[in-house]
Amino acid sequence: MMTSIPPLLLFIIVSRGFKMDSHITEEMAALMQSHLELVIEANKTTNLTRIDSLEDGMLLHVEDSLVGLEECLSAPEGMYADLGTGGGFPGITIAIATGRITKLVDTRRKKTAILDGITEKLGLTDYISTYTGRIEEMALEYPKAFSLITARALARLSVLLEFASPLLKQGGRLVCYKAQVSDEELGHALEVQRTLGMNLVSQRSVYLSDGETFRTILSFEKIGNPRIKLPRPVSFAQKKPL
Ligand code: SAH
Repeated sequence: MMTSIPPLLLFIIVSRGFKMDSHITEEMAALMQSHLELVIEANKTTNLTRIDSLEDGMLLHVEDSLVGLEECLSAPEGMYADLGTGGGFPGITIAIATGRITKLVDTRRKKTAILDGITEKLGLTDYISTYTGRIEEMALEYPKAFSLITARALARLSVLLEFASPLLKQGGRLVCYKAQVSDEELGHALEVQRTLGMNLVSQRSVYLSDGETFRTILSFEKIGNPRIKLPRPVSFAQKKPL
């Protein structure tokens, strides 16, 4: 039997201009909404998100995650990692939409344990798994393993570039979800990108369907080997910025 599309999600998909069937099937849409519902449920006992209603979550988690789908679809084929995934946004949404083999990365075991439970319940464990630990440590275990990396609400752009570079294959993409980017933040990222073997390929700003929430998606390509040894020791990216 066909599942009916959750109405809020249908609204989001149509307002964002995604094509049903070619991009997001009804089954995917239902999985995205179930993920959100399970996060809201788990949030009653573990702090995963400040959002506690389905309606707000549809906008600020699911729709927001889908805003970067276009950039994610431009990445070469291969494995995907969502850095600092929290409740699995944008990681689980993008994994469902792309079908890529996915690692959801977070230092907090409480969070990754909840995500393991959610992917198990939704039957997604054949392609989605978690990594509990720091991104800098993961880079030693999975050097140049990923074709696509996303990060939302994790760190400033230069730090995201430093985190992503050792994990990415040549030609792989880092897609950054940002609420706002100051000239200073972007300028610094552009100054250090070559040192990190990265290059900005696109920058796009949009309003979510509420007409108020502003988002910028920046996509960087891994273009070569970094000029410094990466990853630097744990915490250096944030505490001793380039
Ligand atoms: N991406 C999610 C969560 C953002 S909060 C969202 O947008 O809703 C940032 C998350 O990153 C937290 O869950 C935190 O535990 C994790 N985190 C911060 N620094 C990290 C690091 N160095 N390695 C792995 N996870 C990290």
